[in-house]
Amino acid sequence: MRMERVVFLDRDGVVTAETGKYIVDPGALQILPGACEAIARLNAYGWRVFLFTNQAGVGRGYLSLETLDRIHKRLVEEIERAGGRLEGIYYCPHTPEAECKCRKPKAGLLLQAAQEHGLDLSHCWVLGDSHRDIVAGEAVQAYTGIVLTGHTKRADIEAMPLPHPERVFEDIAEAAGWLCALCG
Ligand SMILES: [Mg+2]
Ligand SMILES: [Zn+2]
Repeated sequence: MRMERVVFLDRDGVVTAETGKYIVDPGALQILPGACEAIARLNAYGWRVFLFTNQAGVGRGYLSLETLDRIHKRLVEEIERAGGRLEGIYYCPHTPEAECKCRKPKAGLLLQAAQEHGLDLSHCWVLGDSHRDIVAGEAVQAYTGIVLTGHTKRADIEAMPLPHPERVFEDIAEAAGWLCALCG
């Protein structure tokens, strides 16, 4: 398998808890157990890790970009405390009604990151908890995996519309272990 050691992670439901509500302040962010360590493990195996996330709460006026930055600063600090790092955080602040090019299931965030970091997306991995993450990854021919810590449960996988993820993982820790083993 030809691959770049690059993985794009959705935020809510993958790295942080999917609470069903907009996270509008840093204190409300619940980082999933083992998520920061999983990112650090990926880094230790040479993986570059990016975040790509829809944050329509900004477009709806529930939080400012400045607050979103503070939320992400906290996340970055927690990841760094575990010995890991994010290469970049790409977010869509728009509402669905804005019909932008970056809101997943569109691939705009991935394309932006690819341009800024010189990535061949068809050799990258995309990991999410929602079908729209998989659709975005599939749109750029990335390898795709879904984790079961957010919107999708194992029982949902079979009934999921196409495209299906290539891999299903219990959580980000299992995904990280698998990706690291893949590369030796
Ligand atoms: Mg999600
Ligand atoms: Zn957007």
